Parts: sequence; C-alpha cells; structure tokens
Amino acid sequence: MRPELLYPLFVPVGSLPGLGPRLAPLVEKLVGPQAVDLLWHLPYALVDRRFMPPLANAPEGRVATFKVRVDQHAPGENSRRPYRVLCSDDSGFLTLVFFHAKADWLEKSLPVGSLRIVSGTVEHFNGGIQMTHPDHIVAEDKLDEVMTVEPVYPLTAGVTGKVMVKAVRAAVARAPELPEWLDAAYLDRQGWDTWRTALGKLHAPASEAELSADSPARRRLAYDELLANQLALTLVRASMKKLAGRVIEGDGALRAKIVAGLPYRLTGAQTRSLAEIEADMAEPSRMLRMLQGDVGAGKTVVALLAMAAAVESGAQAALMAPTEILARQHLATLEKLAAPAGLRLGLLTGRDKGKARQAVLDSLAAGEIDILVGTHALFQDGVEFRDLALAVIDEQHRFGVHQRLELASKGRAVDMLVMTATPIPRTLMLTAYGDMDVSRLDEKPPGRTPIDTRVLPLARLDEVVGGVKRAIDGGAKVYWVCPLVEESEKSDLAAAEDRHRELAGIVGPRTGLVHGRMKGPQKDAVMAAFAGNDLDLLVATTVIEVGVDVPSATVMVIEHAERFGLAQLHQLRGRIGRGSARSTCLLLYGGPLSETGKARLNIMRDTEDGFRIAEEDLKLRGAGELLGTRQSGLPEFKLADLAAHGELLATARDDARLILETDPDLQGKRGAALRTLLYLFARDSVVKTLRSG
Ligand code: ADP
Ligand code: MG
Repeated sequence: MRPELLYPLFVPVGSLPGLGPRLAPLVEKLVGPQAVDLLWHLPYALVDRRFMPPLANAPEGRVATFKVRVDQHAPGENSRRPYRVLCSDDSGFLTLVFFHAKADWLEKSLPVGSLRIVSGTVEHFNGGIQMTHPDHIVAEDKLDEVMTVEPVYPLTAGVTGKVMVKAVRAAVARAPELPEWLDAAYLDRQGWDTWRTALGKLHAPASEAELSADSPARRRLAYDELLANQLALTLVRASMKKLAGRVIEGDGALRAKIVAGLPYRLTGAQTRSLAEIEADMAEPSRMLRMLQGDVGAGKTVVALLAMAAAVESGAQAALMAPTEILARQHLATLEKLAAPAGLRLGLLTGRDKGKARQAVLDSLAAGEIDILVGTHALFQDGVEFRDLALAVIDEQHRFGVHQRLELASKGRAVDMLVMTATPIPRTLMLTAYGDMDVSRLDEKPPGRTPIDTRVLPLARLDEVVGGVKRAIDGGAKVYWVCPLVEESEKSDLAAAEDRHRELAGIVGPRTGLVHGRMKGPQKDAVMAAFAGNDLDLLVATTVIEVGVDVPSATVMVIEHAERFGLAQLHQLRGRIGRGSARSTCLLLYGGPLSETGKARLNIMRDTEDGFRIAEEDLKLRGAGELLGTRQSGLPEFKLADLAAHGELLATARDDARLILETDPDLQGKRGAALRTLLYLFARDSVVKTLRSG
C-alpha cells in the first residue's frame, strides 16, 4: 500500500489549480497523469525579473520589471490594429501593445491614473520604449510577487508558461517532507539538502548554475531516482534468485563431441564465458547471466554448449530469438554445430499452426526435442516442456526488461542466459539489468579483416552507385540500407521501393528488396536468394539489422547514416566483414551535418569496437537518445542524466546492495523510508515482492 504521506502527489493533474478540463489533458500528455509527474518536469531556463531600471535606461531585448503610471488608452482604429496603453515613470515613457485585446479587460487591469507593475521584454520602437503583451500586470503592492526569478519549462501547444509555472508550483506545494531515505553520513558528505528542500530549489532556480545537471539539488534528486531504480532491480533479482534453482551438471560427453566437430578452436573469451555459465548452472540457485559480445564475436556456439550441458543432465533447453528470420537462422546454424552430438532440435514460431504446431508440442512434452528454437511463441500458454532447465534469450536489444522479467518469473527452476550484441556501456547496463552477471566476449575470432568505413555526402550518390556497380561486376555482394523516415514505416517503405527500382535499372535484375512489411516466407525467400547465388544487391530497410548472416557480403551502403543511432549503425555494419575478404562500408549523410553529427559518423569511421562506439555516443548525445530508448527497453530517467550522473549510479548500486544485505525486506527505519522512495518513483510492483510488502 502506498504510504498516506504520498497521497497528495498521486492525484490527477486536473485537480491542480489552473488546470481545468481543457488544459489538464494537454499537460497530462506532456508530463504525465499525476501531480507527482509535474515534480519531475524540470525547468531548462529562467527569466530574471529582478531587473528594474528607470524607463529611460531600459535596454532593448531584456526582460525587465517597471512601476508605471497609466496615462492613456488608445484603442486600435480597427480590429487588426493593436490596442495601446501609454504609461510613464519619472524618467520616460512606455507603450504597452496588445493585439486582439478585449477593451474591457484592459480597462479593468490598467485603469487610467493607477500605478501598475508590468514585466516583460523591452522593445525599442520608433525611438520609444514599448512592451508587447507584458507577462505580468499587477497592482503596485504586488511588486514582490513579480520581481522574482521564474523557471521556464518545456511546453506544449495550448499550454502557456504561466499555466505551467502555476501547475508545477501547486504540485511542489503539495509535496510533503518525507522521511530521509539516504544514509546520513553520505548525505552529509555530499552536503545535500533534504528531498523536500532540494525539490523546492530545483523549481526555483536563482541562477543558470542552479539549472545545470551538476547543481546539488539536481544531483540529490537524480541520486534518489537512481537509488529507486537500483533498489528495484536488486529486489527483483533477489526475488528471482530466491526461487529455487537446480543443479545442472552434465558429464561433458555431448559438449566434447560438439567441440571436436568445430572447424575452429574456441577463443579464450569463449572458453572463459562458457566456464562462467557452467559454474552458474551447477549452482543450486538460478542463473541470471548475460552473454555480451559484439556482432560476430561468436555467441552462438557458447550458447549451444551451455544448452548441451543442460541436455547432458537429462533436461531440455530453449533458445528464443526476436524475429522469425533469426529463429530459422539460429536453427540452421545450431543443427550444423550440434549434428556430431546427435542433439534433437525443434522449431516453434508464430507461423506454426494446427497440426505442425501440435506435432512440435507433442514431441516437446515427450522429451523428444532436446533444444527448442523459436520466437516468443516459445513461452506462450500451451507450450509444455518435459523438463526445461535453461532458457537462452537472444535479445539483440529487442526485448524489454519487463518482458524478460515476466518470462523469468513464469519459470520452473529455469536458468536464464541473455545474449546481447548491444554494446551497452556499463552505466546503462546497470540501469537496465542491475547487477545481472555478465560474461563478455571481448575478443573476436581470429582471421577477421577490418572493415574500411568511409563517410561521404549524399551529393556523391552517383559516384557511389558507379562504385557499387563495379564491385558487383567484380563479384561482390552488396547491402544497400535505406534511410529511416521519421516515425513512419510506410514512408520507409516508399523510399526503399524507389531506391530499389532505380538501382535495379542501373545494376541489373539481380537486385532484391526486403522490408519490414513483407510476410515471413517472402522475406526468407529474398534473404535466401541473397545468401545463395541469385542476388548481388539487396536493398533493405533496417530489417537486416538483426543477425542475418551472409558471410560473402562485403559492401554496405547506408543512406542518411546520420539518422541512425550509432548502436544501430554498428549492428548494421556487423553484417559485413564476416569473411576473410576485405569489406567496405559507405556512410552517406545528408548535409549539412551538425558538429555532433560529424563527430558521430567519424567515430564509426575510426573504430569497430562496439563498446567504444557506445561510450562515445553516450558522451555525445546523452543516454536518452542512445539506443532509441523504446526499442532498447532501457529505462528512461526523469531527473538523472547518465552522461552527467554516471558516478552517482555506481554509488546507488553499491548502496542498494548494502541496504538489502542488512535489511532484505526493508523493515527498519531507513527501510520504511526507502519503501516510500520506491512508491514515489512508482516502483509499486517491486514492493510487493517484499515480505509484508
Ligand atoms: P554472434 O552471434 O556473436 O554475432 P556468431 O556466433 O554468429 O556471432 O559467430 C560469428 C561467426 O564466427 C560464425 O560464422 C562462427 O562460425 C564464427 N566463429 C565463432 N567462434 C569462432 C572461433 N572461435 N574461431 C573462428 N570462428 C568462429
Ligand atoms: Mg548471432
């Protein structure tokens, strides 16, 4: 149950002053549905209204506050002309200008002969001083209310700054003092205020410095958010680990046969990762491990050997891929590798229906399938394993954290291994997975030739097409990746179709097209034609991003590379450079490029190290944009900025671990305060995992 203390913050935004039925939905769309969401809506600038020069000295363009006498009203001659109100102080004159003004309102708020405080931006016009639509007009005794520093918030159409300031102020006013959840010594060392005080400061910045991510108030609140995140992840993990696991230890016979059949030797990184995985599986608690390795690092064989260990112990394993194409490709690869050990593999995807599906399900239940490969259809109702011991999830940053947690909690005592090619920087890794154990394939199989990456303006498209044609004449296979068009799959498709037609006209009929709207079998057919000998050039939208393996492809052209995330470019580029032949990647950009845009593409040119790319991208762009947060399933933060608060995250992780070691069910005094913190950041579901939650 949410602590009563927080009730005032968990009310609809519509119940705040100034937000009626018209404005509330707009604010809700921008900020969120509850008053608490307004607390996290941060000002990005401020307006200092404390400047109060005599009218004669008012500088053009600055925001200033004046005390003036209202001398005369001059309504416009017609409705298109502005209504003017002439004012003065002892030093000079001020004309207030109003368009589409209501005369009766102006007469009421600016009666002739009265003294008024007005505040707004000073304009010099025709030798005079004027102000168009002052931000504030109040009686002279209200000077103190106006002469302040006002925060400026991100807005949305239909919501003015005034409305937003008022709404946020009301929300902040509702925020109670909360019990301190931070460690007293840490709080002291940082010199931070209480949560309530810091919140107040955040929304009443007195200087530019106080707006920055480095201000103490912001850091305090960012830390609170990160602590809530880390505490939640640590709790989820602890509760998953509490579910009894099982000891899985095979005799090594199947693994030995597989290894003996490999046309290569395992790399040091593969051997080490496998040993880590096997050790986890042999523990009586559940494994929760991530196998992280760049595209082409050789994750597949590691996963297979782990699955073989499960089969040796008499159980079954499953491998879940994010797409149909990938599932089939995994099956084909695994079948080849597993053949020497005689493992029985099966496939189950959303495409399987009726009898075929039933046949797979029957063999699975009878234990006649050792390893089941598939899409998320694997974990739907009705899919019963005889004895599932290990689930491998090839994630390729397509599954969200929640899906994954759900899946794990479904389990009998299933060990989990998540494979990812996303080079998630350590900081982000912590926010998404907490302290998930990680094995990293940081060493690529030998014999790879580096990819020659070049950055070119789109203006040189003709040259590029010529070069592609020559490469194809010389026997190359080429990927041509079409640009992302903002938010619309339909326009992505149109662009790709146009490009396909054009290129087919120049290069010839051995040009294929694959895109996200194609049906599975259709897609597979095109990919197979490209992998085989029927197509030289494959025009594609980003559907080729994940996993597809055509080792003979050596050229990739990416149009409007600047519109892609670096992680995505890295994934795409990983489709080439898989064989021993030299590969080339051309990144075409539409100009003009920003400095950051240039720097980003240059990183791609300079390195193939996915981790370096991800770290640099994080520095250049900040975490929010890094991987396309929605796609990656990484959490978004409202107060924490990982580019600025990375070290706070590390502390929060240690803090969370320590807290739960000493008070695993958050029962003590600090524990109770921490529960409030979890509710404040809407981690209610985690609190339920606590004893007496
Ligand atoms: P990932 O899934 O990590 O992207 P894969 O498992 O698909 O990588 O492996 C990429 C390629 O490298 C495959 O063609 C695979 O056969 C090959 N490979 C894997 N391990 C080794 C190794 N130790 N030595 C040489 N080649 C390897
Ligand atoms: Mg792979």
